[in-house]
Amino acid sequence: MAVVKAFGTPSAASPLAAFQFERREPGPRDVHIDILYCGVCHSDLHQARNDWGNSVYPMVPGHEIVGRVIAVGAEVGKLAVGDIAGVGCMVDSCRHCAACQRGLEQYCEQGATLTYNDHERGSARLTQGGYSERIVVEERFVVRVDAGLDLKAVAPLLCAGITTYSPLRHWQVGSGHKVGIIGLGGLGHMGIKFAKAFGAHVVLVTTSARKAEDAKRLGADEVLLSTDAEAMRRHAGSFDFLLNTVPVGHDLNPYAALLKLDATMVLVGAITALEPPLQGYSVIANRRRIAGSAIGGMPETQEMLDFCAKHGIVSDVEVVAIQDINEVYERLLRADVRYRFVIDMQSLKTGSRA
Ligand code: NAP
Ligand code: ZN
Ligand code: ZN
Repeated sequence: MAVVKAFGTPSAASPLAAFQFERREPGPRDVHIDILYCGVCHSDLHQARNDWGNSVYPMVPGHEIVGRVIAVGAEVGKLAVGDIAGVGCMVDSCRHCAACQRGLEQYCEQGATLTYNDHERGSARLTQGGYSERIVVEERFVVRVDAGLDLKAVAPLLCAGITTYSPLRHWQVGSGHKVGIIGLGGLGHMGIKFAKAFGAHVVLVTTSARKAEDAKRLGADEVLLSTDAEAMRRHAGSFDFLLNTVPVGHDLNPYAALLKLDATMVLVGAITALEPPLQGYSVIANRRRIAGSAIGGMPETQEMLDFCAKHGIVSDVEVVAIQDINEVYERLLRADVRYRFVIDMQSLKTGSRA
């Protein structure tokens, strides 16, 4: 058992602070990773503060992990010491249900084991995430990362990247489609990059007029301000696909009105009640569909990383020290993010910001 330094929280009401805990000893199929960078997902904030009512403490958040392999078990085949590895939102699953057999571990019929805010399978030990020095993960749930990439900008691909790549692929978004990405934060900015790379006409649908210029730089062809009722009317019934990354319950009706005949809006952001209620008319008109999507399976996560390496796609990041994590959370709440915060884990290891 090895003690690792981390930042975590003992309760929903506490700020994150320095914390130590024990990682399990690596087994024969485990990869032991020294963490270099960890992205800050809005889910970290939701779970640290128990927004979803399912949090277990003490909690070390973080599921956008990039690091260097420092040891591998005897049966590990796909990674060696010195390789760069990634870990996302899951660290285990049942491995034999229909979903797991299809490489869709995120939809495991018995529930995937999350990287943090969960229990190791068959054990009372809590899983703890990437705001820590090192992590031990079974190789199925570790992906290979091209060492030539800008690693701090790769970290967010492990959640924000795969969560947007997967639905865009599943609904076969591409050339000739008018695609709306709702919300320009961590997920949204990756949604713009992927939709553009797949050949779509991309529209950012945002509450923040000040983000328009950045959206164009990231690849958006147009920007639609969702608070401008007249502009929303002009775009009504015109979208082939919408990817909704709004992190809280909100009124879906004005967004649904943007969909054309048979078009789909996929929710990836809000997991709690969507209020006010969806009006039946919002989906009956134009035979619209509203769907959801969770991260992506391990094979697709590797496919996404390989696609990014081939096409030079990474996140736009603001590097922060772990000591500033509580202020970072406040900025996320104000939608003040450009466009993913990433923690440089040197700050944890040395105990200083520099
Ligand atoms: P983020 O970086 O904080 O970005 C969210 C963006 O949504 C904001 O920047 C803002 O963009 C917009 N927004 C915020 N509040 C809004 C409101 N009340 N109404 C309309 N728009 C609003 O968050 P993120 O890390 O991208 O995560 C987004 C959500 O996805 C979170 O709830 C997270 O838990 C969830 N998530 C889900 C999955 C999954 O597997 N389904 C995976 C990862 C994360 P504008 O300023 O452009 O309006
Ligand atoms: Zn996430
Ligand atoms: Zn399963």
